[in-house]
Amino acid sequence: MYKSVDASVMRRFNKETVLSLLYQQEQTSRVAISDKTGLNRATVSSLVDELIAEQFVEEIGFGTSKGGRKPILLQFNAGAGYTIGVDVQITHATTVLSDARLAVVYEHRRQLDTRIPPIRSEQLLNVLKEEIESAMVACPPSPHGLLGIGVALPGLVNYVTGHVSFLPNLNITEWPVVEQLSRVYSQPIIIDNDANSGAWAVYLRHRIKNLVFINAGIGVGAGIVINGQVYRGRDGIAGEAGHTTISTIGVLCSCGNYGCWEQYSSEQALARYLREQGIDPLDEFSPLFVSHCVEQAQNGVDAYSNSLRSLGQSLGIGISNLLQILNPEAIFLGGTIAQAGSIIIPEIQRVIRHRAINKNKEMPIEIVAQPIVAVGAAGLALAQAINIFPVRDS
Ligand SMILES: [Zn+2]
Repeated sequence: MYKSVDASVMRRFNKETVLSLLYQQEQTSRVAISDKTGLNRATVSSLVDELIAEQFVEEIGFGTSKGGRKPILLQFNAGAGYTIGVDVQITHATTVLSDARLAVVYEHRRQLDTRIPPIRSEQLLNVLKEEIESAMVACPPSPHGLLGIGVALPGLVNYVTGHVSFLPNLNITEWPVVEQLSRVYSQPIIIDNDANSGAWAVYLRHRIKNLVFINAGIGVGAGIVINGQVYRGRDGIAGEAGHTTISTIGVLCSCGNYGCWEQYSSEQALARYLREQGIDPLDEFSPLFVSHCVEQAQNGVDAYSNSLRSLGQSLGIGISNLLQILNPEAIFLGGTIAQAGSIIIPEIQRVIRHRAINKNKEMPIEIVAQPIVAVGAAGLALAQAINIFPVRDS
């Protein structure tokens, strides 16, 4: 027999819709919320009053009137609570504490020694705990305190189960990281792939509903946002664009295949291009490697500018492939490689104009500065804590 939706479930859903809309807007009013959601004005008023009492929403004065009473303006309270985001990369980890509007109020970056000997998951867990605890100390007083913790990891991560299946460049497999962190912290904990986290942050900041965020560092991954949602695929491993083949008899990759895009468009590729030009990159696997290469290129050392241009061209090939498949509204490039934006972007654009079809040729390519991935991890924790989702903005 058909069972109608429970009234309390409906009320909760409506409340989340109102809060999501308030999060999406700089400021709005009860009347505007009613018009946009189709909820009647009495319901909206009651839900908004509840959200004001919970200090998620505040009244900030009067708007302009189209005749009749001036509407009271409402805004989402950025100081309602805070979230922590940690971005783990191969050579470094970045931790942020963000307010509920994802403004960063604390940031810490530390070098990671993960390669010789290879870091074990227990050691990485300790790094996460140290970083989380330092950020907790920095958390200002607020009505809801610490709302959640998000961790972005470079590899195959199941966002739903909280389980890491494989971090290729760290060689960590089958790691129940959320379960382990949940034994220590009472706040909700969420993990995701680093590129997915970056894509989510870009979406929340720019409100572009269809985008690709490429995180290029030691490895390369893509985070895909489709219609305002991160696309994760069946097993949470969508967007592993770094492991798509661009050369059938190419370089051996950490995933076991040959000719992966990552092997031509990452820091590892940059080091190889330099070696091919007779330069031994001593600071390979240092967090400053890319900025050092950019400096050398700007000083007129040809081997560095040639290597960075090769890197840009390879990035352009993979990006063209993504454009043909997804035709997004924009591509965003983050990670350490983004520091070379002034040299690589013209190369990427040249390749795209040559290889991409139709309007994809003119696709905007934007550089995104760090700590976008850590902010995205904090944003995922926020979205989980207060259930923000895209609301049709008519
Ligand atoms: Zn690979």
